[in-house]
Amino acid sequence: MRVVQITTEFAPLAKAGGLGEVLVGLSRELTCQGVEVEVILPKYDFISPRFLGHLQRELDFTTPEWEHSISNTMWATTIENCNLHLLEMHHPKNYFQRNRIYGFEDDIPRFLYFARAVLEYLKARAEPIDILHLHDWHAAALAPLLREIHQEISAKAIVLSIHNMEYQGLCSVHDLAAIGLKKESIAQLQTGSHYNLLKGAIHYADAIIAVSPTYAAEILTPEYGFGLDEDLRKQKGKLTGILNGLDLRLWNPANDLALTAHYSAEEPMTRIIAAKKKNRQGLPLPSDAIWVGAITRLVSQKGPKLLEAALKEVIRKNGVFVLLGTSPVPEIQAHFEALKKYYANSSNVFLHLDYDEELAHRLYAALDFLIAPSLFEPCGLSQLIAMRYGTVPIVRSTGGLKDTVFDNDNRKPNGYTFLDASPEAVEKTLARALQKYQTSPSSHQALMKQGMETDFSWEKPTKAYLALYQRVSRAFLI
Ligand code: ADP
Repeated sequence: MRVVQITTEFAPLAKAGGLGEVLVGLSRELTCQGVEVEVILPKYDFISPRFLGHLQRELDFTTPEWEHSISNTMWATTIENCNLHLLEMHHPKNYFQRNRIYGFEDDIPRFLYFARAVLEYLKARAEPIDILHLHDWHAAALAPLLREIHQEISAKAIVLSIHNMEYQGLCSVHDLAAIGLKKESIAQLQTGSHYNLLKGAIHYADAIIAVSPTYAAEILTPEYGFGLDEDLRKQKGKLTGILNGLDLRLWNPANDLALTAHYSAEEPMTRIIAAKKKNRQGLPLPSDAIWVGAITRLVSQKGPKLLEAALKEVIRKNGVFVLLGTSPVPEIQAHFEALKKYYANSSNVFLHLDYDEELAHRLYAALDFLIAPSLFEPCGLSQLIAMRYGTVPIVRSTGGLKDTVFDNDNRKPNGYTFLDASPEAVEKTLARALQKYQTSPSSHQALMKQGMETDFSWEKPTKAYLALYQRVSRAFLI
C-alpha cells in the first residue's frame, strides 16, 4: 500500500502545534506496520539542516500560477525510516522563505500554490497512489484539483484529516483561479460569497478523520462545527474519530535530553517524585510548592480567560503557576505580557511567553498538575505528554480531553475534569485537586501512576488508520 501524506508540519523539522507530532508519529508507525509512506511538506527556510540528513535533489519541475510558470525543486531524504519529500518553491514572493509556518497575510495563496505544486509533482512521478491523505485546509485544495481537473493522477482514495475545525481556508474565486480551479469546478467549495477549502475536501474525500471520537461527534453540531456542521452531517457516513497517539520517542522521561533527572513508570514513586523535583532546578520558583502549569498556544480555543482564572486561584492557594505559551493574536499576547509585568515580583508566577521546545520538556517533568481549560479540543497532546511525565491533568471535558482524562466516571481515574467553561468551575476543580494532593498523597500518586502506565503509543491508532485505508482503497476496486 502506498500512502502519500500532504502536510504543513513534521516534527521536529517544522512544528507549530500537535499536527507536526501527529505526522511523524503516525508515519513512523505506519512504516513499521508495513506501509509505504511518503510525506510531502514545504521546504521552509527555517528548517535546521541538522534535521535533514542527506538531502537528494529529486526533481525540478514547474507549476502554473496565472499565466506564469514557476519553478520548484523537490528534495528527498529519509528521517527515522520516513520518506520525506521537501518541496522548495522558487516563488517570486518567497512564499516559504519566511521565519514561521503560518500567520501571514498571504497564507491562502501560499498554501494554494503549495497544493498545486504538489499536484504537478505527483503528475510527474506518475506512480499510482493508494491513499492520498490530506491534513487540514492547507492541503485541502488537492481534493478538487485531483477529482475535477487532473483525473489522470491515479489516487484510489482521498482521506482528509481534520485536526482543527476552526481553520478552514476561506478564499475568493480569484485565489482559486490562480491555481487553475475555475468557476465551473468549484461549486462544492462555495459558502455564501466565499469559497471554503475545507468544505471542498469534506465533499471530495472518500473518508474523513477527526482526531478523537468525541470531536468527531462534536463537529456535527453547530456549537463545534464552525459553520460546516451541516456539510459534515451530509457526509456523516464518511466520518470517523481516531484518537491521536503520542510519539514515545520524542516524549520519554527516561531519556529526555532536556531533563536533569530521568525517571520512568517502572520506578518506585518516591524516586519519580524526587526526580521530578530535581527537574525544577534552575527555574526561579520555590521547588517545594505545588506546581500547576500550562504549555499552550494562547488562542481563544485554549480558554485564555480560564487560564488566568487558574493562575489567580493557584496563587491564592500559595501554589506556583507556570505558563509557557505564545499567541498569534496581538491582543492576547499583549494581555499576557501585561500579566507578566504585573506579577514580575511574585515568586509564585512564571510566565514565559515564547515558544521553547526544551523548556516545554522540562516543565512537563517539573509540574505537579497541567491545566487545559479548552473551549474545544480536537485531541490535545499536552495532556497525554503530561500523563507520561507523571503530571496530573486538569481539563475541561471536551473532544480528545474527554476521551483521555477520566475523573469520577466508571473508568480508572487519571486526572480531574470539569464541564462548565467558567472561572468558578476552574476554581472548584483546582481546589479539589490541590486538596487531594495535600491531604491524600497516595491518591494523588495513584493518579500519577495511572497516567504514566497508560499506553499512549501510536501502535493502536495506526491499526485503526490502516484498517480505514484498506477499507477505502478496496471500495475503489469494487
Ligand atoms: P495544538 O495542536 O492545538 O496547539 P496540542 O496539545 O495538540 O495543541 O499540541 C501542542 C503541542 O505544542 C504540544 O507538544 C505542546 O507541548 C507544544 N507547545 C505549545 N505551546 C508551546 C510553547 N510555547 N513552547 C513549546 N512547546 C509548545
